[in-house]
Amino acid sequence: MHDLPPRPLASEDDKFHEECGVFGVWNAKDAAALTALGLHALQHRGQEAAGIVSLDEGGIFHAHKGLGLVGDNFSDAKVMAGLPGRAAVGHNRYATTGETALRNVQPLYADFAFGGLAVAHNGNLTNAHTLRRSLVSRGCLFQSTTDSEVFIHLIAISLYSTVVDRLIDALKQVQGAYSLVALHNGALIGARDPLGVRPLVLGRMGGAEAAPGWVLASETCALEIVGAEFVRDIDPGEIIVIDDSGVHSIKPFGRHQSRFCIFEYIYFARPDSIVEGTPVYETRKRIGAELARESAVPADLVVPVPDSGVPAAMGYAAEAGIPFELGIIRNHYVGRTFIEPTDQIRHLGVKLKHSANRAMLAGRRVVLVDDSIVRGTTSRKIVEMVRAAGATEVHMRISSPPTTHSCYYGIDTPERGKLMAARHSVEEMAAIIGVDSLAFISLDGLYRALGRQRRDPARPDFCDACFTGDYAIPLTDQQDNRERQLSLLQATQ
Ligand code: SF4
Repeated sequence: MHDLPPRPLASEDDKFHEECGVFGVWNAKDAAALTALGLHALQHRGQEAAGIVSLDEGGIFHAHKGLGLVGDNFSDAKVMAGLPGRAAVGHNRYATTGETALRNVQPLYADFAFGGLAVAHNGNLTNAHTLRRSLVSRGCLFQSTTDSEVFIHLIAISLYSTVVDRLIDALKQVQGAYSLVALHNGALIGARDPLGVRPLVLGRMGGAEAAPGWVLASETCALEIVGAEFVRDIDPGEIIVIDDSGVHSIKPFGRHQSRFCIFEYIYFARPDSIVEGTPVYETRKRIGAELARESAVPADLVVPVPDSGVPAAMGYAAEAGIPFELGIIRNHYVGRTFIEPTDQIRHLGVKLKHSANRAMLAGRRVVLVDDSIVRGTTSRKIVEMVRAAGATEVHMRISSPPTTHSCYYGIDTPERGKLMAARHSVEEMAAIIGVDSLAFISLDGLYRALGRQRRDPARPDFCDACFTGDYAIPLTDQQDNRERQLSLLQATQ
């Protein structure tokens, strides 16, 4: 048994969190080791748990899962020797549904009449509770509390005969965001929800070989690390079946205008990834430049809140013609060091992770650039720290619009009432955080930086619901919950 991993300090954890990263390999030597490398490259998408299921050449599945980082679970030679085969799927988890417990760690595995199936899911199903209640009433026994297990039961009770038809049947019943990789005896399968909210890419290994290896991954950075060449993004609503005869594409959902998560560009994706054909690092710099055009302010230095604010700050500084400097230094070795800190040191939280570069900041007017404000707790402490280091003015610029709504599509967000921008105007937020001025990029500015216009019917669109409340996928469980609470209330009156 593994112990629960230490939780990050609340004060340093003031960000939206990506839920998960997925990775799959078909027809490659040491598939599990490649999967461990891929998951390592995707570690930013989930740090609470990791799992790998491999398939050996005799058709037997092998699994290892654990709480903690990929390196904590897959650096032991004995563990890796227990995951033989030329095919594997893996998963990094940041729990948004289901508590963090070993039984919730993916890939989920089940034995069906057609053989074994391992499933790894990035995203969040918005009708999972509703489906789960119905499945339980039909006799299904759930082994975990994660929404992803709904896929397993829908596949199990489907009346279709092939695994792919059963999967399609299951996908037609779920609502929400999903990028899936699944492994069964005959194939590696990838699937993306009809609006393509979360990313999934296809890579190829082995150059021009007649029987190449294939990789499915959440981001291109995970292809790089295993030496796979990027082939293409999986299309929204597409199911990819990779077997010994090649790669087959199925599109069972018809055409929809896609709604890729715009926050992947702002914060979630690794800066060296290319997402939906667009390099993330360059995009973040363009967002920073647009922010400078929209809300310039006289200053001596542009300082990023590291690490995620760095590319946007570079873009801001270049556009504004103000020197870019590392006025805040991040300690990369904190996070799992201080387990359950005592009350005496809890207030030091932000200083464990960030410290002010006093020699750079003293006597200067500073523009601080960050990617988002969620609760505002960290921003306030960082501003205090920068002022204490002698900055004469502190102006904060944010490379996303105000986050006024929660995400239900696979991102861990506080409930709406805890989002600072949902409760306060920008002026009020500036006063609470303690800055001389505060500005967010506008929604139109964000789309401009991405080279798009919002809701342009001729182009793929983005999900921007956490800035607008415009949820493109129905929030069935939320609605269902509200209705049940209302009827409970009426019954007690
Ligand atoms: S609500 Fe926000 S974080 Fe969630 S998928 Fe949409 S854009 Fe991304």
